[in-house]
Amino acid sequence: MKVLIAMMSHETNTFSPVPTPLTRFGAGRNPAEGPAALSQARGKRSTMSGMVHVADAIGAEIITPIAAGAPPSGPVHDDAYAYMTDRIVSSIGDCDAILLDLHGAMVTQSLEDGEGALLSRIRAMRPDVPIAVGLDMHANLYPAMVENATVIAGYQTYPHIDMFETGVRAAQVLIDSMAGKVTPTMVWGNAPMLPHVMRQGTDDFPNRDLQRRVKEMERGEALVASLFTGFPHADIYNAGLSVVIVTDNDEAKARELRDELLEMAWQNRKSFVYKLEPLADSVGRANDAAESEGNGPVILLDHYDNTASGGSMDTTEVLREILNQGLEDVAAFGIFDPDAVETMIDAGVGSEVTVSLGAKFHLDALEAQSKPLEVTGTVRLISDGAFTVTGPMGTGATMNMGRTVVLDTGKVQIVVISRHVEPYDLGCFTSLGIDPLRKRFLMLKSRIHYRATYKAIAKSIIECAGVGVCTSDYDQLTFKHVRRPIFPLDNLNSDTFREGFPQD
Ligand SMILES: [Zn+2]
Repeated sequence: MKVLIAMMSHETNTFSPVPTPLTRFGAGRNPAEGPAALSQARGKRSTMSGMVHVADAIGAEIITPIAAGAPPSGPVHDDAYAYMTDRIVSSIGDCDAILLDLHGAMVTQSLEDGEGALLSRIRAMRPDVPIAVGLDMHANLYPAMVENATVIAGYQTYPHIDMFETGVRAAQVLIDSMAGKVTPTMVWGNAPMLPHVMRQGTDDFPNRDLQRRVKEMERGEALVASLFTGFPHADIYNAGLSVVIVTDNDEAKARELRDELLEMAWQNRKSFVYKLEPLADSVGRANDAAESEGNGPVILLDHYDNTASGGSMDTTEVLREILNQGLEDVAAFGIFDPDAVETMIDAGVGSEVTVSLGAKFHLDALEAQSKPLEVTGTVRLISDGAFTVTGPMGTGATMNMGRTVVLDTGKVQIVVISRHVEPYDLGCFTSLGIDPLRKRFLMLKSRIHYRATYKAIAKSIIECAGVGVCTSDYDQLTFKHVRRPIFPLDNLNSDTFREGFPQD
């Protein structure tokens, strides 16, 4: 059996000023192709790795035209999208099955639904080829994705620590169907709601309970069940929460399960709404939190500006407040500022420097802009910025922060980076000689993914509202394209929701 396996993964924040050329999909280079793409996936924990694992187990011949994954940012450049999709489509030939590791929230300069357009193109070429798709929990689902795939499986954890398992779930059902063991029957639907990302973690109600029910369905009535919380920082028609159910040839059951999950999400829609607190108040609670019982650092979460949701990673307001309020023994990750990095590398380790940090991106989508932060400190360490992830998320992958400098003000050690990276692994500090367990405070530009490793070592978490395109205040964003009405942009009070299910 000949199986095509490819990855084309991007979560697009349409409010983000960060550009998305082809090189963003390959950590500064073009993404891996052919045998290099296969060896990049083999033995790792990505969704594509799970698909390769299933194909290896049946001794399939594997073709891997491309493995392209970029950190979230603005709309994908049209030429990058054309390149990646052409690579996949031109490699299909006479393959017997197609396994795709997609994200499900790719917006290009010209398309709202990058994945649906790719799947439609493949389906037009090969109407009968079985196609399995693995998606992120933040997928914004469109009809073209479901209509042109045989099986779709989504992550069931956030932070995402089940990428590999998602690839296995999608691929295994497809292989079983080709062996005549099952007949996948897929339905989907969405609800008019945009859950706040900060309220989507699977440690927390309601997504904890929703995903628990999803897993229960998979142990019995469904071959695959997925509830997508969706990605609200995309001003596109179908942004928001959706459900896909695959049963063994039982469409009525699939609809019943789908409706149960959508109804459950809808009933709990208010629990998906994030409550705001002024920045000065949040940082003002930090010293008391550090004095309280328990071990480990207090985490100050700069959650309006995280890489994994498309943030510019260079806004300075939370760091400025930390400096203004005089917090001591802080390590901050991180500020994206390649120019400042070069200036500090030129100065050399041990030099005292004064640099203007951050706020290089203009945030067109926001009224509130970040301001550069002038900081004086000592260049403590210079690094090439690459390390191997040891935590549960993306285990074994190389994280590449680009050239990186630790700037030490005496009270705060600031990590200044040259590539966009979310701090979901302790290596973001330990690779730079900073022991995060021994700091009084950690400032992290993250929303939920930091929980994969930092939650276990933290004494407590303080969520800090700075400035950035990942804002949890929807009032700061202008939505023009998302379908209306939608909660909580619109106040929808209907207790039972039945209108949003027409898509199958
Ligand atoms: Zn995600």
